[in-house]
Amino acid sequence: MRTPFIAGNWKMFKTGRDAVTFAEEFKTLYKDTDVKTAICAPYVYLGLLKNLFSGTEIKVGAQNAFYEDEGAFTGEISVKMLEDVGVDYCIIGHSERRQYFGESDQLINRKLKRLFAGPITPILCVGENLEQREKEEQYLIVRDQLVGALAGITPEQAARLVIAYEPVWAIGTGKTATPQQAEDMCEFIRNAIEALYNEDIADEVVIQYGGSVKPANATEIMNMDNIDGALVGGASLNAKDFMEIIDF
Ligand code: PEP
Repeated sequence: MRTPFIAGNWKMFKTGRDAVTFAEEFKTLYKDTDVKTAICAPYVYLGLLKNLFSGTEIKVGAQNAFYEDEGAFTGEISVKMLEDVGVDYCIIGHSERRQYFGESDQLINRKLKRLFAGPITPILCVGENLEQREKEEQYLIVRDQLVGALAGITPEQAARLVIAYEPVWAIGTGKTATPQQAEDMCEFIRNAIEALYNEDIADEVVIQYGGSVKPANATEIMNMDNIDGALVGGASLNAKDFMEIIDF
C-alpha cells in the first residue's frame, strides 16, 4: 500500500524568523502519524529547517533545482548542492515555474534525470490551465506533460516518483477541483504510468492533489482511491492549518 504524503509549498513566503516560529509551533503540534510530511521552503531556509526538524519525522524539500552540478549559471542552485544540505524532496515543474519562468517539459526532464541520479525524491507537478480545462483538453495536456517529463526515466526511477496533479485554475485561487475531478485525473495519471511502465510501478507511484487544499476539504480529497496525498500552498504557511490537513 502507498503511504500518504502531504507536502507544504511555502513558495516565496516567510523570513528566517518566520521559519523558526513556524517550526517551533509545528513541532509542538506534530503527532506521530503514518502520513509522510515535508515542507518545501525557499532555498535560503533549507539548511535552517533541516536543523530545526532534525530528530523528527518532518522532511524538507526544495521548490526547484538546476540539472548541472556546477558551472557558470549565475543564480542557479544545483541538485548536488541540495544533496549536500541533505534535502529530502524537490518540487519540479511547478505551474508557477512553467508560467513565469518558461520551464518546458524538456527542461523539467533534465532536472528529473539529475534528481534521479541521487537520493532526493522529485515531486513532479502537472496540470492544465483554465482555458485548457474549458476546451476539455486537460487529459491531453497532462498526458503530454508526463510523456515529456518522463522521457528516458527508467522503471526503477519512476517507482520513486511523486506526481502532484495541480490544476492551475485551482492554485491559490480558493477554487478547489471537486474531489471527483481530482480523482478522475489522478486515476488517469496512474493509468498513464501503467501504459508508460507497468502495473506494479503504477501501483507504487504516489499521486498528490494540489490546489487550494485546506483543513475543510482535506478529508474528502484524501479519501479518494487514487489520491495519496496533497501538495499544499497557502494553508501550509500556518502550522495549525497544515497539521489539521496532515491529521485528515
Ligand atoms: C501550490 O503551491 O502548489 C498550491 C497548490 O497552492 P495553494 O494550495 O495555495 O492553491
